[in-house]
Amino acid sequence: MKKLVCSFVFSLSFVLHAQQPASFPAALMLTPEKSNFEKTSSYGDVMQFLNTIKAMSPYIHIGSIGKSTMGKDIPYVVLANPMVASAEQAKQSGKPVVYIQANIHAGEVEGKEVTMMLMRDILLGNLQHLVAHQIIVMVPIYNTDGNDQFAKGLRPSQENSPLETGIRENGQGLDLNRDGIKMETPETKGMVTNILNAWDPQMVVDLHTTNGTWHGYDLTWAPGYLYAGEPGPYHYTNSTILPYITDQVKKNNDLLFGPFGDFNTREGWPVKNFYTYNHHPRYIINQIGLRNRMSILSESFAHERFYQRINSTYQFVKEILAYCNSNAAEIIQINQQAEKNAIEAVRNNAGNLRKGVRFKMVPTAEGIRNFRTYDYIPFKKEDGSTSLLKTGRIIHVDKVNYYANFKDTVSALLPRGYIIPAGFDSIVQHLRLMGATVTQLEKKTEFKGEKFVIEKFSKAARKFEGHLMASAEGSFVPEIFTANKGDYMVDLAQPLANLIFYALEPQSDDGLLTWNFFDHYLNTQGIATQSVTYPIMKFFSTNTTPKKRK
Ligand SMILES: [Zn+2]
Repeated sequence: MKKLVCSFVFSLSFVLHAQQPASFPAALMLTPEKSNFEKTSSYGDVMQFLNTIKAMSPYIHIGSIGKSTMGKDIPYVVLANPMVASAEQAKQSGKPVVYIQANIHAGEVEGKEVTMMLMRDILLGNLQHLVAHQIIVMVPIYNTDGNDQFAKGLRPSQENSPLETGIRENGQGLDLNRDGIKMETPETKGMVTNILNAWDPQMVVDLHTTNGTWHGYDLTWAPGYLYAGEPGPYHYTNSTILPYITDQVKKNNDLLFGPFGDFNTREGWPVKNFYTYNHHPRYIINQIGLRNRMSILSESFAHERFYQRINSTYQFVKEILAYCNSNAAEIIQINQQAEKNAIEAVRNNAGNLRKGVRFKMVPTAEGIRNFRTYDYIPFKKEDGSTSLLKTGRIIHVDKVNYYANFKDTVSALLPRGYIIPAGFDSIVQHLRLMGATVTQLEKKTEFKGEKFVIEKFSKAARKFEGHLMASAEGSFVPEIFTANKGDYMVDLAQPLANLIFYALEPQSDDGLLTWNFFDHYLNTQGIATQSVTYPIMKFFSTNTTPKKRK
């Protein structure tokens, strides 16, 4: 009996030890923890942490999504029990992959620290259960090059907490969260290829910090927005997961979370309208919706101190992981249904169904009730005009309009597929990089479809992300056309149907035409002085009616 009690006590203490170690080794203490939150981790600090923790657990695999412009490996980390070392093994396990991405904007540094804290707690601490039913993939320092360009004052709204941060842009001076369609950076190419297409995450979480609006929430969130994608993953994320987690963190951590947005005090006070960001798939989180998967944007509140932002982000990601771990089967099922619906729509409704290609932001029906915000008071300036200054006091506004829905302003017919003439190889390569399947015609084929005649081609006056962005106006004309052997065909009945549609439609507000992929062709065809047919043809079916003899 005594022996039994002894062994029971021993095993109990072992379990407790495994769940909550008395201490982590000094090598696993993070830069903010060691610096009273005055500093954030450098690339070297992150790599040292990863190498240390890798030697301490059998449930971690570390790889690289590729090299940054400055030649740094961008590490990804897989946490799994049993361990998986490849995307193939992950697929075989049947468990969903959840992808957590941090530091896309290297001035917004909480996510980087939080992913390392979670690795510590999942591998060696009290969160080991989070890998029971899912596989976690993390990129703790996505923007490696921006991270180490430490300087003071790069994030004024963070108020010197930490004292220095990295910069927003990558080594090419580009914003990685505007690169989802043009894919000009090694980071996007590496992430799309080696994370999205390889591991096929069912849930993607992108970790940020807000840029300054004085709302009254510890953290704000957004789902991947619903515009040209399937509604299932959006509705589940927006109406089930996010409200549930918001309740959990309130109950468990005294944290107040709410939907993401900004207000503009020039519209008057008290606040009436709260605006989210655009729907465009250039933002990673939005693109995930077009890929029939779930996604969440996390924005810690810039004006809180660094340690508070770490706490909010940590609790949020921990709750997302807990939710996905407990509801793995349901999440997979909803995403699979969305993918099936996207393919079926092409098979059954090509040539009949119209889908949006340009959208505007509109208010949700319900708005936001009991909206928290720092209060502003009016004061008279010397010139007699009135202005507003924020107070340090939080108020509740009964209801604000929440601009977070998207209504199409231009739509186009969903085709059965696209024909890309031979010679447009760079377009084909780009689509394949996105994950699309593109084949080559083995024989001359006649199609029924339509062409788009560009009557007006405009370019932006100012550069954005190195581009004078383009837009085309014109009209579709029904057409029976012949494609030649060697031309490329995109059969749209494939999982990425909605993404391909948005990328290839000529009037899309965030497609390949927008990002100047067709400028050279259109210029050589004389678009400055005449109408030009968009070179990519849409087909609804192969043409089976015999040609009339002339
Ligand atoms: Zn950001």
